[in-house]
Amino acid sequence: KASVMDGDKFDYEEMEDSLEKSRAKSALEALQEERKKLPIYPYREELLQAVQEHQVLVIVGETGSGKTTQIPQYLHEAGYTKHGMIACTQPRRVAAMSVAARVSQEMGVKLGHEVGYSIRFEDCTSEKTILKYMTDGMLLREFLGEPDLSSYSVVMVDEAHERTLSTDILFGLVKDIARFRPDLKLLISSATLDAEKFSDYFDSAPIFKIPGRRYPVEINFTKAPEADYLDAAIVTSLQIHVTQPPGDILVFLTGQEEIETAEEILKHRTRGLGTKIAELIICPIYANLPTELQAKIFEPTPEGARKVVLATNIAETSLTIDGIKYVIDPGFCKMKSYNPRTGMESLLVTPISKASAMQRAGRSGRTGPGKCFRLYTAYNYHNDLDDNTVPEIQRTNLASVVLALKSLGIHDLLHFDFMDPPPAEALLKALELLFALSALNKLGELTKVGRRMAEFPLDPMLSKMIVASEKYKCSDDIISIAAMLSVGNSIFYRPKDKQVHADNARMNFHTGNVGDHIALLKVYNSWKETNFSTQWCYENYIQVRSMKRARDVRDQLAGLLERVEIELTSNANDLDAIKKTITSGFFPHSARLQKSGLYRTVKHSQTVHIHPSSGLAQVLPRWVVYHELVLTTKEYMRQVTELKPEWLVEIAPHYYQLKDVEDSSSKKLPRGAGRTQEDR
Ligand code: ADP
Ligand code: MG
Repeated sequence: KASVMDGDKFDYEEMEDSLEKSRAKSALEALQEERKKLPIYPYREELLQAVQEHQVLVIVGETGSGKTTQIPQYLHEAGYTKHGMIACTQPRRVAAMSVAARVSQEMGVKLGHEVGYSIRFEDCTSEKTILKYMTDGMLLREFLGEPDLSSYSVVMVDEAHERTLSTDILFGLVKDIARFRPDLKLLISSATLDAEKFSDYFDSAPIFKIPGRRYPVEINFTKAPEADYLDAAIVTSLQIHVTQPPGDILVFLTGQEEIETAEEILKHRTRGLGTKIAELIICPIYANLPTELQAKIFEPTPEGARKVVLATNIAETSLTIDGIKYVIDPGFCKMKSYNPRTGMESLLVTPISKASAMQRAGRSGRTGPGKCFRLYTAYNYHNDLDDNTVPEIQRTNLASVVLALKSLGIHDLLHFDFMDPPPAEALLKALELLFALSALNKLGELTKVGRRMAEFPLDPMLSKMIVASEKYKCSDDIISIAAMLSVGNSIFYRPKDKQVHADNARMNFHTGNVGDHIALLKVYNSWKETNFSTQWCYENYIQVRSMKRARDVRDQLAGLLERVEIELTSNANDLDAIKKTITSGFFPHSARLQKSGLYRTVKHSQTVHIHPSSGLAQVLPRWVVYHELVLTTKEYMRQVTELKPEWLVEIAPHYYQLKDVEDSSSKKLPRGAGRTQEDR
């Protein structure tokens, strides 16, 4: 490895040169002093000793004790990076980025050099990298290219208590490679006390406890249930701000939209309070928050002001924000749920577990006594909340993980060493889907299609769509669509005071009722034609940031196409070819309009609706294919394209029979509904 640095023995000489550099030096020294104040610091030697003596170690310590930022540095200082990198996995990408940024500061190096991070579609590492923070999903993908992880000397599976799907699969894989790589050190670190379970799983690995400093936290419940927790959270924040002694506030909300709403309302109401009240600094933090704004939550609050952090679950254990004295916990989070019968997955606002509630409360007592305001009753807490959150593996679609394991040559999935096995039904469903997508053959073996699909870090249906674009000669178009889909629902910008303009601009891309996928393609291509103009984005109510991300993702998908030897060809004038390609990946997501004016999914006869944001929401084509279902007030199909029913039988004859798609055109349909495009 080139230029391995020796942590403490930093070469200061060059830095003395300029004033700016000496300022950097004193900042670095200050950071070194801060490092020594962390609860983990007194245990440095003991910890290094334990790592030396044991191949696998379970580490438990309160959030904020220094596990994530310090342990990899200690190991580096002790020489573990001489023969390989140190990987530290995080369930959330914001955490991976933010922690890597912090550690690079502490080591006085540029982010992406000695300390880097790797998240999906963004690799901020280099030849020099020795400490690599990464999402658990990315380490899982690295197994595909390097099944023994030989570039690593240490793997730290951090935030193990989160029990994400990728973390659970990693457990099985790292446990296996540790057997034939005695030189590999394995650390499993967790913020909660269920360490026994990890220890049992890893053949009774010793548990290293980092005693935390914890101050008492006063817990308050509401007397009666809150009808509107968002409003209650805002009111409580303001009450704390005007009545309580100094100290920052942390509010747990469920997602970006909710956080943005809260931010807007808070800004509005604090303006109404006048100048007698101290300044309230509002800091949102969620997964898609742009990097440059993420750092803001860590900036110290100026004297006389108060900070209110509006966060998702990410602040529960992944990120520690210093100075928090008050926590507001409405008691909800967004959680995936999966119905193995229908194969439908939805993201639902769900009550948290008691374990989560405890973690949230704990965030207020890190630097002094704190207060937690739970926006639910003590009765609710004791009777309605589960003790622990169900591990993701037991409530999610497993198709992508099964494809990854199959490509690792792990065939006997029923006997994979799961810490908690997934429901057999869900495994079966995943195998069925992969078979339907032609990724597996009848014997359950990976096909050529499957091998190609596995190269893409995407959901198998999206990967299949991309692989199928070869046949329809539209790979160039389809990767633009895939990239636009993968940046989520943040392409179109709809300011409250300009909704009509924004909607008109959006509908321009839907001319001819081409459907949402092709509208996304048109957006991308139009932007490209303006040479990626920011001005064009403003004029069309398009979020330039999302577009740039889509462009990055697209570039990477183009690289992967080359790897699987699919030529880049555009077929933009043949919309049917593009729609057939979409159908090749998404045929399990087809729905048909009923006489009642509602849609039913073809395979499972579930009632669904076209999302109001869709360009086809008023058109109601008779047959559609959709990207995803979201459950809000109803089951909505999001990103919808019209299809011809005969395509289903042509493309997926093993999945649909003629009787499934017989067009009952004699039956009466509501006026205006069910006409195909050609009828218009
Ligand atoms: P743990 O992993 O045990 O929860 P961390 O190593 O994440 O603890 O945090 C240790 C300290 O580093 C905390 O005081 C935290 O505030 C600080 N810290 C972590 N990330 C950042 C960051 N991006 N910016 C500023 N401080 C940070
Ligand atoms: Mg941590």
